[in-house]
Amino acid sequence: MINCIFCKIASHEIPVPFVAENDYAVAFYDRSPQAPVHILVIPRIHIASINDLTDQSGPVIVGMMDLVRQLAQIHGNSSDKGFNLKVNTGASAGQEVFHMHWHFLAGK
Ligand code: AMP
Ligand code: ZN
Repeated sequence: MINCIFCKIASHEIPVPFVAENDYAVAFYDRSPQAPVHILVIPRIHIASINDLTDQSGPVIVGMMDLVRQLAQIHGNSSDKGFNLKVNTGASAGQEVFHMHWHFLAGK
């Protein structure tokens, strides 16, 4: 989508290093970390929020969750690979970027 910053990151138009990636999703460090490890997982295609998922979104969700599992193996808390996954959905809930993203938070 034109003028979507996360579409530009997913397509490398804005050069941000990926921490992990697959056919459906990419992960990169949040520029304003709220935890010692704060990584965003986003779909490669533009989906504005969870409220915009459809019956066809299954593979994208599985692809995103696959990256979360990879991140947990590498960045999860040392004792049990613990982490938090946060998804702000809708402006009233604090969503600022309207390209769905999952906050992977760990290291506290
Ligand atoms: P939210 O409030 O859930 O929409 O979160 C948006 C997140 O995107 C915030 O944590 C921002 O710090 C982060 N963010 C916005 N632009 C960028 C960017 N260019 N690179 C990395 N993180 C970003
Ligand atoms: Zn987008």
